[in-house]
Amino acid sequence: MTSRETLGTEGVTLAYGTTAVVHDVTLSVGEGGVGLIGESGSGKTTLARALLGLLRPRSGTVRYGSRDLASLGRKGRAEFRRAVQPVFQDGSEALDPRMTAGASIAEALTTHHRMGRRERHDRVAELLGAVGLDPALAARRPHEMSGGQRQRVAIARALAVEPGMLVLDEPTSALDVTVQARILDLLERLTAERGLGHLLITHNLGVVGRLCGTSHVMFAGRVVESGPTGTVLARPAHPYTLALRDAVPRLGGEPPRASGRTEAAPAETGCPFRLRCPYAVDRCRDEAPAPRDLDGRRVTCHRAEEVLSGLAPVAGGERTGPGAPRQ
Ligand code: SF4
Repeated sequence: MTSRETLGTEGVTLAYGTTAVVHDVTLSVGEGGVGLIGESGSGKTTLARALLGLLRPRSGTVRYGSRDLASLGRKGRAEFRRAVQPVFQDGSEALDPRMTAGASIAEALTTHHRMGRRERHDRVAELLGAVGLDPALAARRPHEMSGGQRQRVAIARALAVEPGMLVLDEPTSALDVTVQARILDLLERLTAERGLGHLLITHNLGVVGRLCGTSHVMFAGRVVESGPTGTVLARPAHPYTLALRDAVPRLGGEPPRASGRTEAAPAETGCPFRLRCPYAVDRCRDEAPAPRDLDGRRVTCHRAEEVLSGLAPVAGGERTGPGAPRQ
């Protein structure tokens, strides 16, 4: 097992109790970065938990390199936990409030490497420098730092074990807009310099363009559109992706809401998105769409060609603009 293994899922379904919350998801994360996009409750964080080995699939396989995560022995799991590092929404989740920043980073260093005091001190200073912090900050505890500083320390702690991959779960959404931009700059630089694979989980389409070569858009536990980020963002083929893109003109702010009836729960029959979808027709009620390849991406929508073309006949065949919700 090397530090540059890919991480992925093959037909993964995840459930809490008897309720499936992620359905049949296949994706692969390597160098270049992958975005997992969707609103709260779409299943993206649950999927990330499975990718981190914290949740077992009901069916399907989570793979690290060529190996099934569930089949890793004790040594293999220890190596996996070192090689794949999470960074959460709020840096304080990764930091012990009683420990200084320096002690938190040093603790991660010595978990996987033996090193003397001097070497440890130098390495902590080097890691703080790498995330753009003054090494003097090593003496501070989490409550003595700003949110942005805490997130930088959390990133330094993740880097301390020399991972091959970062799982970034909404890493900037708890921060002020200007601080978000700086943390994204930092992540962009660090992942490029160190050749790190990364999965970026976000509700904000605005951030994936910079950090992710590939993106998957999730709704109600299903991937509804995936492909090269530039293709998906420039010309969405799924009405949900289109609504997300149009709702996010800026970095930060409120989570985007899909157009149409934004509060409607996923439909239990037919297409799960149909109760919100301005493109819905009778077929969407009667038949769940299957994933298919279209114009350089994979999309799960009966009317993707019309979404791409910008035309959307409503039920009854009359042509209207794409923004007209079906009543
Ligand atoms: Fe909308 Fe129908 Fe496409 Fe579902 S299948 S996203 S309801 S047009």
